[in-house]
Amino acid sequence: MARRVRRAPFKACRKCKFLVPREATRCPACGSTDLSEDWEGAIVVVDPEKSEVAKRLGFTQPGRYALRVR
Ligand SMILES: [Zn+2]
Repeated sequence: MARRVRRAPFKACRKCKFLVPREATRCPACGSTDLSEDWEGAIVVVDPEKSEVAKRLGFTQPGRYALRVR
């Protein structure tokens, strides 16, 4: 029997969209505990100061972010 495998072992913060490991209970970027497993698209921000995309989306810390979180 086939089993659906989740695409990534991450959860996304509903407040700032930071991606955290599934076992995490708190977002390391903003401290929120409101984490969602239902998210889409990932963007890696290496240097927020130099990234126009990161600035536009309001990402201030280096790390992985989800583009959409439900
Ligand atoms: Zn957060």
